[in-house]
Amino acid sequence: MKSLKAAAGLFLLLAFGEAVYAAGGQKVSSFAREQKATLHFDVLSGTGYLEKGGAIVSFALGIPLAVFDWEKTVRIEAPYLSGNEVILPDELAAMAKDYFLQKNRPAQERYFVATVLIDPGHGGKDPGAVAEVEGRRLQEKDLTLEVSKRVLDLLRARYPDRNILSTRLGDTYPSLEERVAKANSVALKPNEAVIYVSIHANASFNRNAKGYEVWYLNPEYRRTVVSEDLVKEKGKDLAPILNAMLEEEFTTESIILAKNIYERIGKEIGRFSPGRGIRAEEWFVVRNANMPSVLVEMGFITHGEEGKLLATQAYLRRIGDAIYNGIVDFIDYFER
Ligand SMILES: [Zn+2]
Repeated sequence: MKSLKAAAGLFLLLAFGEAVYAAGGQKVSSFAREQKATLHFDVLSGTGYLEKGGAIVSFALGIPLAVFDWEKTVRIEAPYLSGNEVILPDELAAMAKDYFLQKNRPAQERYFVATVLIDPGHGGKDPGAVAEVEGRRLQEKDLTLEVSKRVLDLLRARYPDRNILSTRLGDTYPSLEERVAKANSVALKPNEAVIYVSIHANASFNRNAKGYEVWYLNPEYRRTVVSEDLVKEKGKDLAPILNAMLEEEFTTESIILAKNIYERIGKEIGRFSPGRGIRAEEWFVVRNANMPSVLVEMGFITHGEEGKLLATQAYLRRIGDAIYNGIVDFIDYFER
């Protein structure tokens, strides 16, 4: 296919170019050396191309067109002969240089999840949900810490070069503001991202309520476009607009992250616990965290059977594995 494309590129040059000569420029041979590009030039046809890392810029003597990767044609000042040296006009040399730079950008300049911040819900003076399970007082704050530790261990082993952080490591009580501040304090390069996963357990007065759910929110979006004040001010009139925006959010990272984690939890504990869905809501932690953020509700400690399961290390370990795998799926997707 490549030779056919080359012929097509050459045809474009010869068919649509007209001879125009310009002063100024540099020898194509020294340009190629400087760029560490390979120069191909056919003296008979007066056509040639420069190649670097698979990126190709074609040109022809006296023709004011350049062809990029045999496809994209750009009008330029024509290359010309000086003695027996081909001269590239400055404009073409600059374009070719830029093109090579763009096409050969190293992998580390691509989008990169540099930091994962895990937030074990509640802690310290705030036990979160509490239930009596087989004579034992089960507290949400202990379960969330247990699961978070598992997720953190697995992430650190898999990604030794990334920041794997937790909002708390022991039975402490960081305020919501402190959790958010931690999330937003991570220094990032322009191409780097943070993801935020808050882990919780549910409780209900309805003893039949059971199952896991994952909540998401695109924080930047809500904060800038749909502020609380705006909702209060406009009230119900805004509902159709909000709905449209929520649909649009389906393309955002928070949803993809929520979906990845939700699916993994389903695979891991779906035969014990029903999935209650992926949900959208406003809550403080996530609304103010400037990053893709989700909140996992791993099950109801108030449900007879589910409470018993959540009281076991083995079950919490499974949930930790699932959350970890969901995050890995997201990172694979995000950095692809
Ligand atoms: Zn909670």
